Amino acid sequence: MIAHLFHAPVGEHDTAVGVGTVGSSEAIMLAGLAFKRKWQAKRKALGKTYDRPNIVTGSNVQVCWEKFASYFEVDLKEVKLKEGYYVMDPVKAVEMVDENTICVATILGSTMTGEFEDVKLLNDLLMEKNEETGWDTPIHVDAASGGFVAPFLYPDIEWDFRLPLVKSINVSGHKYGLVYAGIGWVVWRTKEDLPDELVFHINYLGTDQPTFTLNFSKGSSQIIAQYYQFIRLGFEGYKDIMMNCSKNTRTLKEGLQKTGRFDIISKDIGVPLLAFSLKDSSRYSVFDISESLRRFGWIVPAYTMPPDAQHISVLRVVVREDFSCSLADRLIADIVKVVNELEAAPPTDNSISVHNGEESEHNVREMQKGITKYWRRFAHGKKTSSVC
Ligand SMILES: *Cc1c(COP(=O)(O)O)cnc(C)c1O
Repeated sequence: MIAHLFHAPVGEHDTAVGVGTVGSSEAIMLAGLAFKRKWQAKRKALGKTYDRPNIVTGSNVQVCWEKFASYFEVDLKEVKLKEGYYVMDPVKAVEMVDENTICVATILGSTMTGEFEDVKLLNDLLMEKNEETGWDTPIHVDAASGGFVAPFLYPDIEWDFRLPLVKSINVSGHKYGLVYAGIGWVVWRTKEDLPDELVFHINYLGTDQPTFTLNFSKGSSQIIAQYYQFIRLGFEGYKDIMMNCSKNTRTLKEGLQKTGRFDIISKDIGVPLLAFSLKDSSRYSVFDISESLRRFGWIVPAYTMPPDAQHISVLRVVVREDFSCSLADRLIADIVKVVNELEAAPPTDNSISVHNGEESEHNVREMQKGITKYWRRFAHGKKTSSVC
């Protein structure tokens, strides 16, 4: 189902090639390893050195790519970001590719801002470079979040196996796949893209089982849950849910814009999430807002952007199925409250303020009140997740 969703060239009677994993991180370890082995085999066959593999990504990659590079001894070559441009620039990425590049990893839905990278442009530029150089550098798409968003909301965006250089794609079942935590997927374009030597065959459980995973035993509950969601909701069901997420993101965006205090960093087309920064952070920072919002039971992360945009700091709200428009309204109201308080407070030196004992007691009481209120609503059957 997932291979078809991503337009893998599999016929009606072919078996798609892929594996269920604990999440996108494990999926990426496996996909990266497949690229490394393929590249090594090719270099060996040509009688060339194969001890300095590298991988090209944007500096906005999720930490699992840094882990892959470190654990599997591959140099990570990162395209740096700049203020106002928070995804990997395909032109710069292709410039960085050399004969030791095992693949270019691109993200469909940057973790930082939700923005889709331009996989089509990357594919086209890399095709040209491959033609000039005689290399055949492939592409991996890290679609951890976007893999279950783009096919439903933006079916015309070409980012998947419709592009010839895309050889593998990962997606997290526990993000927009709508399953509880512990499931990810990696799909290869064809059987040839996964080196045989990595697949182990065991028969001691009754039948031949090909395995390509980092661990062995694993619960099947997530796989059943994913299967259930697919057949229960279908394409239309996922589409409705993603459209609703997108609509609630818009509600949140408009509410934040109305406050006049924030710049919206995320794009309208992308993963339904909102990354935003303070227009004026001279008196208080996004970190202060994040800290204060905890009193109302919200955990809204604040962080700095990756290099070379690390001087920009943002808050991020991920809008999933259960983030209703009434929750969006409450979050906006709480943000306004927090910002007004921070504005009324005496100026600090812009570092996270140190509270005295009395103040932190007050904060704990406020937080408890917030939590109690939430649970009361819940206990009285007030919907916290509704379609609006
Ligand atoms: C979340 C995320 C990952 C890691 O996925 P897990 O399923 O949590 O292991 C990798 N890449 C991107 C772009 C992500 O957003």
